[in-house]
Order: sequence, then C-alpha cells, then structure tokens
Amino acid sequence: MKKLTILAILFLSAFGSLAQPGIVAHRGFYKYEGSAENTISALQNTIDHDLYASEFDVRFTSDGVGILYHDAAINGRPIEDARYHDLYANPAFTLKNGETIPPLKDVLAIFKKASDEQLASRGTTTRILWEVKMPNRKERRDETIRRTAEMLKDYPLRDLVQLISFDLECCRQLAALLPDVPVAYLGGDVPPAQLKEHGISGIVYHYKVIFAHPEWVKEAHQLGMTVNVWTVNDANDAVSLSDLGVDYITTDLPLDMQHWLHKTVINPDTGEVRSEGVRLPGDSAARGIGSPQNRRQDAGHRVRQC
Ligand code: MG
Repeated sequence: MKKLTILAILFLSAFGSLAQPGIVAHRGFYKYEGSAENTISALQNTIDHDLYASEFDVRFTSDGVGILYHDAAINGRPIEDARYHDLYANPAFTLKNGETIPPLKDVLAIFKKASDEQLASRGTTTRILWEVKMPNRKERRDETIRRTAEMLKDYPLRDLVQLISFDLECCRQLAALLPDVPVAYLGGDVPPAQLKEHGISGIVYHYKVIFAHPEWVKEAHQLGMTVNVWTVNDANDAVSLSDLGVDYITTDLPLDMQHWLHKTVINPDTGEVRSEGVRLPGDSAARGIGSPQNRRQDAGHRVRQC
C-alpha cells in the first residue's frame, strides 16, 4: 500500500495537481528581496513565477487617477481628497524599496503584455484580483464604482479580472454594471446564496470564517460561485482549506504555498485524493488551536485587512 501511495505522489508531482486551489499572491508576490506590497516588482514577481493570480488594492485620487495602495491616506493625507500630482510630489510616494506607488493603468498594461507572453509559452495567464477600496465620502464612493467600471469597460483582459470588495453595495453595483466580470464579496458575514441573489459570483472570506462555516464552500459551489480565502500563511491551515474544497488561497507566501499544496496523495484502497501538508512541530492542530470549536471562536475576531 505504501509503495502505491508513493507512486501516486510521484505521478501527481509530474503531471500537476488534481483540483488543488489556485494560489493568489496577496498584494503581489512582495516578500521578495527588493520588493514591497502593491508595487510593480511585486506584480512582476507574481507573473514571473506563473502564479495563478495576484491580488492588489486600488484607490482613486480626487482627480480620478487609480493607484495601488492599501491604506486610505499617504502620510496622513487622504487619497480620496488629493490630486494625483500633489500626491506624486509627496516624498512618501516613494516606497521603502525605492519604487513609486504605481498608477493602475501601468499595472493593467503590464498584465496585458505578460498575458501575451504567458499564453505563447504556457497557454495560461496570471489572473487579476482587483480589490476596490472604498473611500469614506458618499460622492467619492459613487465615483469609485463608476471609475472602476470605466477602467474595465475596454480592458482586453477583463475576462481575467475578478473584482473584490468589503463593501456589499459596491459589489452589487459593480455586478450590475459589469455583468460579464466576476465580482466577489470580502466581508465574511453573508451566506453565498444571499450574495448570488445580487449577481455576486464569489466569496473571498477570511479563512477562519470558512473554518467556522465549512458548509458555505458546498453552498457556493452548488450555486456556481467561487470560494477564495485570505490570508493563509500556515501549512496546516492551507491543507485543511484545500481539503474543504476552496478554489483559491490568498497568501503572502506563494512559493511556500506551492510546496504545501504540492504533496498530494491518493488512497489506493478508496481512490480518495487528498493533499497532505507539511505538519510542523507544535502546529496549530497539535495545540488544539485549529479545532472546529476554537476556529468558530476565532471567526469572531476578524481583521478587515485584505
Ligand atoms: Mg487587498
């Protein structure tokens, strides 16, 4: 039996995984020498490593320029109230790794160029998970939704984009404005069936929410929706989530994640396919932290940062 299992591992290693989650680099593949989150280098790293997708955060300046930035303000100045060139003149616009905060249009151009090369070389392309960061003021919120739709209206890779947001109303409106672009909700507090009624086609929930509500994976799939989880940086959590059947895993450690998900085993007696992650000494399962009960408790302490 042991020999058969080893053969199964070798087979899957040679020919790729079976139904393993796609790996999404959180804010680009930024944990890389000389890189930083939400930068051109981080996104290029994602492409160069042929990862399934890259997530990044988009905000719009007061004069309508999309930029990649996680926080609402740069050096205390709210992005939604600042003109692009005023921000650009701010020393904080240069990040610690020497790059400047990238304009969205440059990022979209990089993915377009890369997709042509990737399609020629391997037949697939790195996808885009575009998080729509909502500003505080009502008029800016409406503008953000409108500008997001405008940016995507003529983008040739729109079929490779998934829009994601913590703001349910934003998701609803984008799904109505862009019916052919998948939209997924980040909030973690709504069952998939309710989202489906509003045209939302996926959930991107904190992994502890999915541990607390594993039934949402099946519910989503029965409705034709996708399931993504964030931000998973632990081998045992990754394997557990893969076993639950999530479609995508968002991580700060994409190469580690490749390793954790790679070791896939077929039970030769039953034919069951499952992933066997690297069980680390003192792992969360051994400490009991990962028990279903504790995970449900943990789910009440979510942090709204994706
Ligand atoms: Mg994000």
